[in-house]
This record gives sequence, structure tokens and C-alpha cells, in this order.
Amino acid sequence: DWVDLPDIIEAARRRAGRLLERHTVRITLPPALPLICVDPVLIEQVVFNLLDNARKYAPPDSTITVWAGHDGQTLTLEISDQGPGIPPEDRERVFDMFYRVDRNDRQSGTGLGLAICRGIVTAHGGTLQADSGLNGVGASLILRLPMPETVPGVPA
Ligand code: ATP
Ligand code: MG
Repeated sequence: DWVDLPDIIEAARRRAGRLLERHTVRITLPPALPLICVDPVLIEQVVFNLLDNARKYAPPDSTITVWAGHDGQTLTLEISDQGPGIPPEDRERVFDMFYRVDRNDRQSGTGLGLAICRGIVTAHGGTLQADSGLNGVGASLILRLPMPETVPGVPA
């Protein structure tokens, strides 16, 4: 389906609902983003999972930053938090099934969320990577999706 990424972000945020009530969610979007051709249910699930991780691993009252942009070929969505971050040696392994960073934070989970997210993104021809957060603080999860060359309603 042809969808507008901001609508998907809003839907994921709405679905997270009260899970996000203790965090500040700051969304920075360009005035207009080209439509993307994705499965909206699956991409919403990815955004939901990334928001859920951000609020789960970052302390309450911290800020979760959602940023999107594009360069004409690739659409980028970054979800950054101010939590403990993901150590460089784990930034690839967190996408493995059941892998969880060993921490004493007592947060429960199956370790499947990011593996599922990467599967969905890969099926769309995109990439999903972990990096350090803004100014080296926390984690950033970076989603890149290829942009189609033709968009309905826009003459070539
Ligand atoms: P679930 O399957 O319920 O999502 P989970 O959150 O443990 O369980 P993933 O979402 O796959 O599993 O994340 C894997 C691991 O990566 C987490 O256990 C956590 O250690 C680490 N991680 C993921 N997101 C973040 C984040 N934003 N900040 C810090 N660590 C993170
Ligand atoms: Mg998770």
C-alpha cells in the first residue's frame, strides 16, 4: 500500500498509548515526506517495537526522539533514547533471536522484538541497525527503506 510514514508513526504511538506516558516523545519530521510502498501493519509493528524498547530501556522522564528524512532514494527513520545504549559489540547480536543484553535492569522480554523487526524491514528491501544515540548518549535504532521511483499521482 502507498502510505505516509507520519501516519504510521502516529498509529504506532497511539497503540503504545499509556506505555509512553512517562516519557517525552519528540517527533521531528520534514514538512512533506514522499509516500512509501509498504505493508502498513508490519511497518507499524516495527515502529511500535522500537518505541516499546526505547521506553522500556530508557528511564522514565527521559526523551525519546523520532526523526525522519529522505534523500530521494532512501527514507530514514531514527528512534533515539537516553537509556543505557547498546554496547558496540552487541549492536549486531541484538537482532538475533532470543539475544538480550545482559543487564541487571530486570526488564522482561523474549529477545524476539528486534529479530522480528529486522525480518520485516529486510522483506521490504530496507535495513535496520543499532547505533549510539544522539550526542553519544543512549541508543538509536535506524530504519532505512528504499523509496520507489514513481509515486502515484505524481507525473514522472
Ligand atoms: P521483546 O521480544 O519483548 O521485544 P526484548 O525487548 O528483550 O524482548 P528485543 O526487542 O529483540 O528483545 O531487544 C533485544 C535486546 O536488545 C534487549 O533485551 C535489550 O538488551 C537490547 N535493546 C533493545 N533496544 C534497546 C534500547 N533502546 N536501549 C538499550 N538496549 C536495547
Ligand atoms: Mg523489545
